[in-house]
Amino acid sequence: MNESVLREKLIEQGADLVGFSRLGKSPIIGQENLIYAVTIAVKLPDAVLKTIDKKPTMEYFHSYRTANALLDKIAFLGARLIEKQGYNAFPIAASQSTADDKSSYRGAFSHKIGARLSGLGFIGKNALFISKEYGSKVRLATILTDMELKSDMPIIENGCGECNLCVKTCPAGAISGIPYSENLLRDDFFSAEKCSNHMKTYKDIGRGSVCGLCIKVCPHNRLK
Ligand code: SF4
Ligand code: SF4
Repeated sequence: MNESVLREKLIEQGADLVGFSRLGKSPIIGQENLIYAVTIAVKLPDAVLKTIDKKPTMEYFHSYRTANALLDKIAFLGARLIEKQGYNAFPIAASQSTADDKSSYRGAFSHKIGARLSGLGFIGKNALFISKEYGSKVRLATILTDMELKSDMPIIENGCGECNLCVKTCPAGAISGIPYSENLLRDDFFSAEKCSNHMKTYKDIGRGSVCGLCIKVCPHNRLK
């Protein structure tokens, strides 16, 4: 099974974008061979994103949760397909909440790192993955594997430029305005803690697990 066949099979399952990358090292302790990543993206509906205005909505929360469930299913099926070829495959859930250190606001693997390396897009000032096709209106999942995979697309340079819309919009002051670069740690340009604390103020909407304001305003979304 080559990259094109795998991409086709994942798209058949509902993926909107599929990318491949080789990571510097495996993020899974004790499984050092898992250095290749399959990035899967599912797009959120434009009409649902448009409902966000100054705060998230239940419609957005439901779409966010449904996209995560679809991604988890696609990643699980993809991992089974790869295993059937005789390789190891490790699906990483779309929204990971099982990190050992919860205070670091990190999962087992940052999907956007693989997504960027695969050439599907770049990482914005808002610390979100901004895809070429759909901007930031995507959710991501990943399959880590020891099956050799190559990207067929070059890495894309940061496309934020002089834009600061998400910086101005964020009610939590979580986005510093410093553009992402490979040499920065996330905390150098984005406060996940401030973002998370702000989301908790929306207790009545998705029990404080979504916000979406910085997704809605990004011009790369080209909302229809
Ligand atoms: S999700 Fe909301 S609180 Fe978090 S960075 Fe974006 S706008 Fe700020
Ligand atoms: S809103 Fe502007 S600054 Fe923020 S991620 Fe999008 S393009 Fe970059």
